[in-house]
Amino acid sequence: MLIREMCDSCSGPLRDVFSMGSMPLANSLLKADDLASPGEAYPLVVAECTECSLVQLRYVVEPEVMYSDYRFFTGASTPNTALFRSLAQSIKQRVGSGLAIEIGSNDGTLLEAMEVEGFDVAGVDPAKTHCEIARKRLTRGTTINAYWSESVAAAFAGRADVVVACNVLGHSDNLNDFMSGVSRALKPNGIFVVEVQYLQSLLEEAGFEMMYHEHVSYFDEWSLGALLARHGFAIEDWEVIDAQCGTLRMWASKTTISMPIEFRKHDWQKFRSDLESRREYVMSRIDDAISNRRPVCFYGAPAKATQLANFWKLGTDTVELATDTTPAKQGLWIPGALIPIVPRDQLTPAYTAIVMAWNFYRQIIARESEFVAAGGELICPTLKGEPCITPTR
Ligand SMILES: [Zn+2]
Repeated sequence: MLIREMCDSCSGPLRDVFSMGSMPLANSLLKADDLASPGEAYPLVVAECTECSLVQLRYVVEPEVMYSDYRFFTGASTPNTALFRSLAQSIKQRVGSGLAIEIGSNDGTLLEAMEVEGFDVAGVDPAKTHCEIARKRLTRGTTINAYWSESVAAAFAGRADVVVACNVLGHSDNLNDFMSGVSRALKPNGIFVVEVQYLQSLLEEAGFEMMYHEHVSYFDEWSLGALLARHGFAIEDWEVIDAQCGTLRMWASKTTISMPIEFRKHDWQKFRSDLESRREYVMSRIDDAISNRRPVCFYGAPAKATQLANFWKLGTDTVELATDTTPAKQGLWIPGALIPIVPRDQLTPAYTAIVMAWNFYRQIIARESEFVAAGGELICPTLKGEPCITPTR
């Protein structure tokens, strides 16, 4: 584990702003054999750069430890698939055609959509299984099984028309090497499209469970713009799209003048008090369910479920199980809290289900109309008990 003494983006001084104490790795789900000695926990301390305002983790766990058994598949989520199809169309409109490289290409969902739009594609991803799945989906393109870095980018030296990085920059433990790689891969007039979890949405929703060890950096438009500028990129455009409860998408190139960006001060005191309001709301709903003799479960077992269960100390005495539609997660346990993960069909209308994939709450409500009509209860564990609101620009 690395202890970060200075900002990973600008090398400025850091100050600690929020701590979750010792937490397990959010995506390291446990097998039956692991239950006797549940996985290790690591300090989760959030710090902010006093120079460029980048929010980042103070303690960084080695990627080899975190990604040895990675189970998140982009294509497993229908809303993600639709979003990537729409992103591929937007890139087509702005870039036209040519070579597209995706950093963190996962199971190839976006690469496949880019091929459909007529691009030559190449993906880079550290998970071997995901690379193999992606290759099978592609007709001409391929994937490289590696962590993105300047040296990996050398393979594409100056040939890429567009480099895309969706929800991967925040996972990098060396932002400047990552960006040097993007610069190296792109043509001089190439476009960099980057999507990151939007810090502003996370703060407004007190979405502490979106903070976990894999997410090393948390950007807003100011801190992301500052990182890009240091590598010679100007911001062509940016938008907040309604995915993952606020995703910041930025378009950058070296051939334009940057659009102006407003500095945002982060209100950590409000974040902490909102977080307490959320906890009180969710706990009161759980207490109501228990007093009505309703069993409680998690609907979905994303990383957010690990964080919420462990930070709020919810174990199987409160949350009986978690349902998840991803087969690779079924039969495993949420680390720390030791909540078992079962297939969706084990959810009966007797349950009060806390929707952990609350970024897709609207879609889940629509999908589960029969469950609700039969007496099942869905709880949205957000600040207002409703689907999250994406802040406007
Ligand atoms: Zn900084």
